[in-house]
Amino acid sequence: MTKGYVPVQPQGRASGQRAVAESDTAVEIGESNTAETNTEAAVETNTAQPPFPDADLMYIVDLLPPDERLRYQEVREFLQSRIRAASIDYWNREEFPFGLLAELGKYGLGGLQTDGTSKLFKGLMYVEVARADVSLSALVGIHNELIVGMIDELGSEEQKARWLPGLTAFTQLGAFALTEPDHGSDIAGGLETTARLDGGEWVLNGAKRWIGAGTIADFALVWARDVADQHIKGFIVETDRAGYTATKIANKIGLRIMQNADIVLDEVRIPAANLLPGATDFSKANELLRDSRAWVGWQGAGIQLAAFDVARAYSLRRRQFGKELARFQLIQQQLAEILGNATASLALMAQLARIQEDGKLEMVQAAMAKATTTRLARASVAMGRSLMGGNGISSDYEMGKLFGDAEILYTYEGSYEINSLIVARAVTGKSAFV
Ligand SMILES: Cc1cc2nc3c(=O)[nH]c(=O)nc-3n(C[C@H](O)[C@H](O)[C@H](O)COP(=O)(O)OP(=O)(O)OC[C@H]3O[C@@H](n4cnc5c(N)ncnc54)[C@H](O)[C@@H]3O)c2cc1C
Repeated sequence: MTKGYVPVQPQGRASGQRAVAESDTAVEIGESNTAETNTEAAVETNTAQPPFPDADLMYIVDLLPPDERLRYQEVREFLQSRIRAASIDYWNREEFPFGLLAELGKYGLGGLQTDGTSKLFKGLMYVEVARADVSLSALVGIHNELIVGMIDELGSEEQKARWLPGLTAFTQLGAFALTEPDHGSDIAGGLETTARLDGGEWVLNGAKRWIGAGTIADFALVWARDVADQHIKGFIVETDRAGYTATKIANKIGLRIMQNADIVLDEVRIPAANLLPGATDFSKANELLRDSRAWVGWQGAGIQLAAFDVARAYSLRRRQFGKELARFQLIQQQLAEILGNATASLALMAQLARIQEDGKLEMVQAAMAKATTTRLARASVAMGRSLMGGNGISSDYEMGKLFGDAEILYTYEGSYEINSLIVARAVTGKSAFV
């Protein structure tokens, strides 16, 4: 059984309205930030909801138009009630929750890329899925940005008709296969997997590492170097093709629900029509790779809101020296810092959504956002972990799970260091990559 965060029920509130007290609150003890006497009363009667139950102090959600705000509240409630607590056992067992995936599909999370919603809405969906479970947010993000996005933007009409209906319903999955055992940060220049055209078919050879959903996907989107012109191209490789093997990478310290795989491609033959016509040169995928980097920035905000939720609930519940942890100044300072980090991340991402909507997003902003929110996330989960003492170590209390998951956000979609180098290259005009 999990012992962690007891979800605060989402509240429909108009812009600028404070949350009201409720008698059936899930958090046992709340605290008003007004007069101390009110606080005492709230503690004694155990009836108050903590202020700002959704921790959106800057009212970012209120920037959504009314229809998207309603949809946001509905999905958020589902994620908090259905996914958040349930994900912990799957995470502990490194198992994939196929049933939960189907439910995510019913809420439209497989079709965010093509359903015409705003960039801010899509980003806030990534935040809320990450707040419920970071692994599933990785699945939702990669699926939308790198699988649905690539096929929709770079695929043929035949490929779109074949794959998009199942993908957007989340009844089918793709895996994004770029990284290799010997090439991570230097993959663009170093990629070794080959493709050769032979009698009307492509033949692929090579190895891929860390590929999310590699063992459970219907196909992998494999990036390989065409031996004829040396360009890196994107190929749809169905996972039941002869010569394709995927082996689960076990014992990860984070993202344990995501089934990452080592993939071997041994003379895998696919029809010529499986080449993405828009991906005949790696630079064609750049815009989508830039957007997927921004997606991890949203994840960085979401994981910090999760850490805040858990730390606040715990500090209000746990008593030492005869009073709640929440009454100690050092605990309050850490809560304020986690929330400050989370809010700064969310506000940065909301502005990123604006420039993305205007078509002004470039790699430098995406890299800066990704590097910054994941750096802050690492600091926030470390504070949350120590705030919870020994119980912060156990994933059963959720914070331990977040602590491990933050490491992945810091490293994938370009490591923290590489994204920092991209930013600094842009602002100095000097590359320090090599
Ligand atoms: C859980 C998980 C899921 C992933 N999912 C996917 C996926 O679905 N698909 C996919 O294709 N890939 C995936 N990846 C791969 C991920 O993108 C790479 O791990 C990442 O790009 C870093 O590459 P690397 O691990 O090979 O590290 P390396 O490139 O070997 O880097 C090691 C260290 O050296 C530093 N470094 C490297 N070069 C420089 C330099 N020039 N200057 C300064 N420092 C440098 C790095 O910052 C890092 O700290 C995933 C990874 C993980 C851990």
